[in-house]
Amino acid sequence: RHGEWANKEARQVAIDSKVVLTDEVLKGVKSSIVNERYVEADSNAREEYSGISRFVSVPIVEDDRVVAVVGVADKNDLYTDTDILNMELLFNAAWSKIASKRGEEDSRRERRVFESMLMSLNDGIIATDEYGRIIHMNYMAEKLTGWRRSEAEGLAVDDVFVAYIDQAGDRLAISPTGVVKKSIATDLPQDVILRTGRTPEIYIGGKVTPGLSSDGTDTGMVLTFHDITFERKRQRELENMSYRDPLTDLYNRRFFEERIEYEMTRSIRHNESLSLILFDIDRFKNINDTWGHPVGDEVLKQITDVAKRTVREVDLLVRFGGEEFLILMPHTDLRGAIVAAEKLRKVFESTNIPAIGVVTASFGVAEYNRKENFTGWYRRLDAAMYKAKNEGRNKVAINEED
Ligand code: GH3
Ligand code: MG
Ligand code: MG
Repeated sequence: RHGEWANKEARQVAIDSKVVLTDEVLKGVKSSIVNERYVEADSNAREEYSGISRFVSVPIVEDDRVVAVVGVADKNDLYTDTDILNMELLFNAAWSKIASKRGEEDSRRERRVFESMLMSLNDGIIATDEYGRIIHMNYMAEKLTGWRRSEAEGLAVDDVFVAYIDQAGDRLAISPTGVVKKSIATDLPQDVILRTGRTPEIYIGGKVTPGLSSDGTDTGMVLTFHDITFERKRQRELENMSYRDPLTDLYNRRFFEERIEYEMTRSIRHNESLSLILFDIDRFKNINDTWGHPVGDEVLKQITDVAKRTVREVDLLVRFGGEEFLILMPHTDLRGAIVAAEKLRKVFESTNIPAIGVVTASFGVAEYNRKENFTGWYRRLDAAMYKAKNEGRNKVAINEED
């Protein structure tokens, strides 16, 4: 290599007035012939170096760069342009052979290292070309999808990585082009289920990274994903524990308070009506006092079952406090909510709870007016419920201003 040569070996063929031959060749990027001088070994040179007569040197060029200089000396005859031509052809051809061999080995080695890295990762990895066709998948991806790499290669990623969003039941389209537009790594949304039909479905988390080459062109994407089913289930259980009331299994006040802001925003954005019913069991203290607290608990469960059967699927029934319940009713105005409350009141009134008899409740109803905050809305609702109590219980009432 020219660096080494120029520094060490070149000195040993220094000729004449201290001109280093390789320098000449390097500078000119052309071959040189020295025929007419007998060259003595440098006086500083060690004994094993002898003088030379006649000398020819040829640069080896790769990508317009001199990568080596080859020198030959002591031909019996004079060196000619034919010698140079032959040497240039021979050595440059030899060099390109060496270079390509070295390149192949390097890239083979790199590929082996790269692949074993991919293979040993705990994440599934699927790489696609710019058309979204699979060009690579690792062992984990095979395991999670149930597809073998050899089968999947060349197929559209959407046909192998079949994923759905949990809640909506929608199929999640992971389009490489869509992701590449963003040109940054993007997390998969929450609640993604991998459902390939070849393996039991699992919850997955993961990332889509656009594969951009250095010149910024689209080279596909890399999808990494892993099984989060276990974590997801545990998280669900914890959520259920903190969002549900253990006695009735209804959503609790905490859940409601986290949810209500979203519902209010939604109502404004979609210009949809939204109403609340608050009901409180009448004379519940009497039940506790007469039958004991455990029977009171049982009555709360029975009341819950009756209410659950009566409200619509889209309504949200919440145990808001001890024996106070809320029903959040989307797409429902004040009129509709009054009708629903009246219906539930009548159902309570006509339901006989074994050993206890009839248990009634008082209902307040208020529609969200889209200007107030939740506190304001609840104040009207609570006032309405107390009006129903004051009017003799087992009643449905609205706030005076409504
Ligand atoms: P009103 O008609 O005015 O509502 O009369 P009330 O007796 O229902 O009065 P209030 O709503 O103030 O009393 C609620 C009672 O419910 C007080 C409390 O001891 C009881 N309670 C609250 N939570 C539970 C519960 O989880 N289990 C049982 N057994 N009783 C409960
Ligand atoms: Mg109460
Ligand atoms: Mg009560």
